[in-house]
Amino acid sequence: MHDIWNPWHGCHKISKGCEPCYVRYQDGQRGGNASRIFRTKAGLDYPLQRRRDGSYCIQAAELIRVCMTSDFFLEEADA
Ligand code: SF4
Repeated sequence: MHDIWNPWHGCHKISKGCEPCYVRYQDGQRGGNASRIFRTKAGLDYPLQRRRDGSYCIQAAELIRVCMTSDFFLEEADA
């Protein structure tokens, strides 16, 4: 496992299934607001970003965790 890539952060509580939400729990611990949705510093192009030596930040066949602090099906994420 290499890294975590969170292209955006935040989510909308949509059902009772969201009660034990990881994002809401983590944000609550830090005094954050998980309902505020924003693009993260990592950006949408993180898989294409390179280090100073020219190698990709994420190597071929490396496993990464994606979108741990949001959801792919947000309307705000479509754009
Ligand atoms: S991340 Fe999942 S569990 Fe959390 S609020 Fe969004 S949809 Fe619900």
